[in-house]
Amino acid sequence: MDGLARRKTDVAVIGAGIVGLCLAGFLAQRGREVMLLDAGGSAASTANAGSLHVQMQSRFMRLFPERVAGFEQQLPLYPQAVDYWREFERAIGADFEMKVSGGLMVAETPEQFEFLVTKSRRERELGLSVELLERADLERVAPYLGPAAFGAELCANEGKLNPLKCNAQIRAWAASQGVTIVDRCKVERLQANTPGFSLATSQGPLDAREVVVAAGPGARALMASAAAFLPVEAEPLHMNITEAAPPLILHLVQHAERSITLKQLSTGQVVIGGGWPAKLAPGAEYPVVDPASLIGNVSLAQFMVPALAPLQIIRTWAGLNSKVDGRGVLGEMPGVPGLYAAIPGDAGYTLGPLTARLVADVMSGRDPGVDMQPYSPMRLLQEDWQAALAAS
Ligand SMILES: Cc1cc2nc3c(=O)[nH]c(=O)nc-3n(C[C@H](O)[C@H](O)[C@H](O)COP(=O)(O)OP(=O)(O)OC[C@H]3O[C@@H](n4cnc5c(N)ncnc54)[C@H](O)[C@@H]3O)c2cc1C
Repeated sequence: MDGLARRKTDVAVIGAGIVGLCLAGFLAQRGREVMLLDAGGSAASTANAGSLHVQMQSRFMRLFPERVAGFEQQLPLYPQAVDYWREFERAIGADFEMKVSGGLMVAETPEQFEFLVTKSRRERELGLSVELLERADLERVAPYLGPAAFGAELCANEGKLNPLKCNAQIRAWAASQGVTIVDRCKVERLQANTPGFSLATSQGPLDAREVVVAAGPGARALMASAAAFLPVEAEPLHMNITEAAPPLILHLVQHAERSITLKQLSTGQVVIGGGWPAKLAPGAEYPVVDPASLIGNVSLAQFMVPALAPLQIIRTWAGLNSKVDGRGVLGEMPGVPGLYAAIPGDAGYTLGPLTARLVADVMSGRDPGVDMQPYSPMRLLQEDWQAALAAS
């Protein structure tokens, strides 16, 4: 297929997930000519659960203890990111079905509660507003939790939104700002010229003055083709959704030790996920559902909230998350002027619009209002990353 309407653009944004859509819209709003290219693959943004995360997820801390320092550096961005979702919703006149009704991380044992005590102490030092609830408090605040709940950490500025609605409304807004959105257009390779870039795409060649890679798990190969290093890993994850039920669960619910997030959308449906793996065959672009994750994830949900038992699961799906080192990678790539990375970091849907705005600010020479150093791609020049590159 050779169907690009133009062969030249000022900025090419690669990847039309939450980050690419927002970023392309912001740049167009600032007067740039933008083409947004997407392969139409298995994007995290179309698979995600719509949880707005703020407190550190125990899942990440358990699975990737070496990345906790990275999570901690990015932690102050999360409450700002939730506020920014609200600001963005207002600014574009959308309705994301957003509710900031708090998030509970539930402990079943005194040991797990002790983990939450330590975690909350550290989070307070880093500026988060969190509190600990004992069993008696939980019976008042979250009566839907089962008898196993021993206590919980409450983070008031966590919440939820409807990602399908968000994606559709943000896409329409980006198009209304003048972004040319090209679907089913895989960028195979990038070549840095002086100046500008040549892109080889499945719809033919394209020249761009600047390029933003917002391609999630696809970013690593794209950057490598331009002799840049961005060690994004793909993480295939499982999700479930139930039929609609009367209002039951107010909070975003997680567990202090086990992988789960669950919450009830304004449709009444309960979305259950939180890090159970999906299957990804080597070389495959699409992950597939693993029945063991379906059973494990749903059983745990029912154990935590017994009133879920009669509800039918009406859909399950899998998506590809992207991970680096616990932090986003946001900004110009070292040694390749005009090539920008826009990888949001963990719980990247929560961070999507804010991190997109930060990169748009950097590209426009505006003050982003936050210290961008922790997210700089410069850190990838360090020796341990270079060793990883040599081994990959
Ligand atoms: C199942 C699941 C549940 C999740 N739940 C949550 C949640 O509840 N809350 C939360 O905050 N986060 C959640 N996440 C994480 C979050 O969804 C991601 O971090 C976020 O969506 C990343 O957005 P993105 O725009 O950077 O990348 P993506 O959404 O992955 O988009 C990247 C885009 O790039 C395109 N692309 C890739 N390579 C190429 C190429 N070579 N050429 C052209 N296009 C290309 C892909 O087709 C894709 O559309 C979840 C992730 C998964 C997988």
